[in-house]
Amino acid sequence: MPPIYAVNERSMNEKPTGVTANKTQRNLTLTWNDGHMSVYPFGLLRAACPCASCRGGHENMRAEPDETMFNANLPDSAETRLANIRAVGSYALTIVWEDGHDYGIYNWHYLRALCPCEQHRGKA
Ligand SMILES: [Zn+2]
Ligand SMILES: [Zn+2]
Repeated sequence: MPPIYAVNERSMNEKPTGVTANKTQRNLTLTWNDGHMSVYPFGLLRAACPCASCRGGHENMRAEPDETMFNANLPDSAETRLANIRAVGSYALTIVWEDGHDYGIYNWHYLRALCPCEQHRGKA
């Protein structure tokens, strides 16, 4: 018999098993341990940068992205060109942008909530 809290446990344990940046298509693909794939355009990731400076202060920082971020379509520029990705412990990653911005800590929960796929946006 499966445990009653299986769903909650799974959502707490959600983490990517693969991270691939495609600089030609300008997107980042995360494969999750439940098999789901999330494809994030660089412009969306930059618009959703969770750092205090991009969010306009610590009081505006949220555990989940703002719905308005999904409408952002930032043009190709140094701001939206991914230069590097760094792991932050085992819970998050930091994206280094070509303009040098690297303050955003994208944790797994935030990234999962930011998944732009139809399935996840349809639910929001
Ligand atoms: Zn930022
Ligand atoms: Zn999704």
